[in-house]
Amino acid sequence: MHYKAYAAQSSTTPLAPTQIPRRQAGKRDVSIEILYCGVCHSDLHAARGEWPGMRYPLVPGHEIIGRVTATGAAVSEHSVGDIVGVGCMVGSCRHCDSCDEGLEQYCEGPHGWQQTYNGWLDGHGENTYGGYAEGITVDEHFVLKINHAESDLAAAAPLLCAGVTTWSPLRHWGTGPGKKVGVVGIGGLGHMAIKLAHAMGAHVVAFTTSPAKVQDARDLGADEVVVSRSEEQMAAQAKSFDLILNTVAAPHNLDAFMSLLKRDGTMVMVGVPDSPHPTPNVANLIFQRRQLAGSLIGGIQETQEMLDFCAEHGITSDIEMIDMKDIEVAFKRMQQSDVKYRFVIDMKSISAA
Ligand code: NAP
Ligand code: ZN
Ligand code: ZN
Repeated sequence: MHYKAYAAQSSTTPLAPTQIPRRQAGKRDVSIEILYCGVCHSDLHAARGEWPGMRYPLVPGHEIIGRVTATGAAVSEHSVGDIVGVGCMVGSCRHCDSCDEGLEQYCEGPHGWQQTYNGWLDGHGENTYGGYAEGITVDEHFVLKINHAESDLAAAAPLLCAGVTTWSPLRHWGTGPGKKVGVVGIGGLGHMAIKLAHAMGAHVVAFTTSPAKVQDARDLGADEVVVSRSEEQMAAQAKSFDLILNTVAAPHNLDAFMSLLKRDGTMVMVGVPDSPHPTPNVANLIFQRRQLAGSLIGGIQETQEMLDFCAEHGITSDIEMIDMKDIEVAFKRMQQSDVKYRFVIDMKSISAA
């Protein structure tokens, strides 16, 4: 099968239309017509080769919502016509300790977890292609059930990466009533973190470099908003946080945020800048037994839990829908922190592109 898709042919060429091959649904596979695909900052990092190991052509996209068009004989969880989701992963070994615990993103198998794009398919050396395409074929274990209303499907797409990438650390580090949680960077991930931490019952403080986002952050569910460029506003939050989730996609001074943690507090990094942050001051960790941690997307089971929680609580992403042909404009605006708060591609537009 061949599908229309948008690919970067190299790190210096803009995304452009192309054709990509997809396998027919095998025994355990689900074939999906893609309806919507969110635009993650990772798509931009990858397309532009800002991270090592990118292979071209590179078809980004790992916030996929679509309709099942075919299923293999052994598929039991999904049927033709179902609305389903695919996130950042399309495979893993399925029997290492991490896979057994439902944390496939930390797979210790010989080929690790297979990424939806730029993945190493079963170690055969084949590249995987993401959701900026008409369709995709995925092993049913990595296909999620979507229970949101039809009218919310586009806005549910970003849950598949931005949603679970923030849900997983919020849950792992115990977000809930009585906890003070900071969210740094109000973009795709950050705005979901605010909504989720608020829905979990925490006291949420948003940190932004953009004064224009202050009211929006309140509307998203933040109890307080701090403009992080204001030393005065930052000082007022010193030693008060249980947890800070840092989603910023650029190198910055981590000490400014580490100082805001209580004793035993943790700052979790989820942003992956193309060059390292300045090294944090260890004294800042030592004197309050603070922790600096990281977290990678989320496992399939917790992704389903997050999707079900969001459907139940009416949580979706705040999106701006775009046509496929306008992806480069969206990338540019993302680079300028001008996203309110996730672009989603209406995949109907790919046939016209
Ligand atoms: P995004 O929508 O572009 O949001 C990033 C936000 O960070 C911006 O909106 C901006 O918020 C803030 N920011 C940007 N440049 C900054 C700078 N120079 N200094 C301070 N703040 C700055 O990006 P995203 O899609 O949320 O992704 C964020 C990062 O997470 C990316 O690096 C992405 O690759 C990574 N990611 C990681 C995982 C994982 O598993 N760990 C998963 C998905 C994505 P304000 O305007 O509010 O300051
Ligand atoms: Zn992503
Ligand atoms: Zn594994």
